[in-house]
Amino acid sequence: MAAEKILLIEDEKNIYELLRYNLQKEGYELLWAQDGQVGLDLFAREKPDLILLDLMLPGIDGLEVCKQIRAKTGYAVPIIILTARGDEVDKVVGLEMGADDYITKPFSNREVLARVKAALRRKDVFQAQDVLKRGFLELKPDEFQAYYHQEELTLTTKEFALLYYLCKNPGKVVTREEALQEIWGYDYYGDTRTVDVHIRKIRYKLEQINSQDMPVETVRGVGYRWRNKR
Ligand code: CA
Repeated sequence: MAAEKILLIEDEKNIYELLRYNLQKEGYELLWAQDGQVGLDLFAREKPDLILLDLMLPGIDGLEVCKQIRAKTGYAVPIIILTARGDEVDKVVGLEMGADDYITKPFSNREVLARVKAALRRKDVFQAQDVLKRGFLELKPDEFQAYYHQEELTLTTKEFALLYYLCKNPGKVVTREEALQEIWGYDYYGDTRTVDVHIRKIRYKLEQINSQDMPVETVRGVGYRWRNKR
């Protein structure tokens, strides 16, 4: 099997050199773009398996790059954003624009590897890349779009993945541990409240469109279930 390809879009050369050494040692191939436009070009040409994206870039900034990649390819490629400590707003905006995860600088080698492995794993959840229809919900992972009662539903990448996973298994109870494993992939964090927080946000967004009928059910002490069997 060919090495998995990671595209780093980052203007700081020392970060590139550090990541190149550490990622190559683990068997990944690392491509480097020093600005947003080169990053978009390399992305189109090389079709990487994952993107590490700095937000503070010369020219087109990281958030715009993230938006353009999602607009072009939907949900297919995982994106991890690199942010400076304290940029809370950028993190939130990045996740809303379709990033999978973020890493705060300065980061450890171990942290990067763990996040990269987790993000590459989540690709498996979407292997089929098919449109999923359940009741009044429609999920299109290819375009990273969701509709509920025919209205557009704006989800973060993790919310999208979680909802997709529930719908993929209608009527089945998904435990918090299972959701963490499948969507986040990092069991070493082990904080199941993360799942509850995301479910709460998903429900809130569904209710904003239609408050009559809540298809995401809580199964007390166990987990969550998509109610509609169809
Ligand atoms: Ca930078």
